[in-house]
Amino acid sequence: MQKPKFSFSQINLHKRCPKAYYFQYVKKIPQKFSIYAYFWSVIHNTLQKFFEWKKEKFESPMLFWDFFDEEKEFSDDSLENLLKIFSEKFNWENFWDEAENFYERWKKILENFYQNENIWDWVLPFFIEKRFQIDFWDFVINWRFDRVDKIWENKFEIIDYKTWKLRNENDVKNDLQLWLYCIAMKNLWFEPKKAYLYFLDHWEKFYFEINDENLKKSKNETKQFFENLKKEKFWALPEENKCKYCSFKKYCEFKK
Ligand code: SF4
Repeated sequence: MQKPKFSFSQINLHKRCPKAYYFQYVKKIPQKFSIYAYFWSVIHNTLQKFFEWKKEKFESPMLFWDFFDEEKEFSDDSLENLLKIFSEKFNWENFWDEAENFYERWKKILENFYQNENIWDWVLPFFIEKRFQIDFWDFVINWRFDRVDKIWENKFEIIDYKTWKLRNENDVKNDLQLWLYCIAMKNLWFEPKKAYLYFLDHWEKFYFEINDENLKKSKNETKQFFENLKKEKFWALPEENKCKYCSFKKYCEFKK
């Protein structure tokens, strides 16, 4: 029998509020179009395409005769190209009269990203939006890396883009998703040295060195998630800030 598959976002949602997990994955209440989910996908798709160009430019540079090949596209990692990719991915129809505000705000976020990132010239992305799966107890975890950079021979760094608000530094260091990335990377490929969270909206960047204590803690936390699922434990963790943005607040008797 095939093991059931779970994504990191399912585990994260359960950690945030098991009752919200229940509404989304057990009751399967459909969610409305969310501008934040759309933002997440447009930014990820834009950066994916952009870094693919960058990687291609490095790995197979244009040769003299390529310039005469009308079919051949230029691998261009300039800011102009980043913004061009973004404008192609952004669907104005999704935003009606607010389109211009969103478009300008997100464009600014990408400009900041480009200007603040200092890796353009010498660091090559090793994985870009790479899918993977790992066995975990009676289950399979299925997800993808936003980006993994190869800094030096056998030295890899994991990068996760966040499109929501910055939490405090302590929360960042205990981000279960990032630790699960480290476990997956270590199990499937190489041992990573550092893991980064990029909060794109504010341009804040946090990193931590990988350590065995946190890897073990994250494995236990994940095992606990699966145990709670097996026992069908879905308690509410209401907090004003969480409930305010929760898609299920109208169904939830515990909301704050
Ligand atoms: S409204 Fe609050 S308590 Fe209820 S599911 Fe959402 S986050 Fe959890």
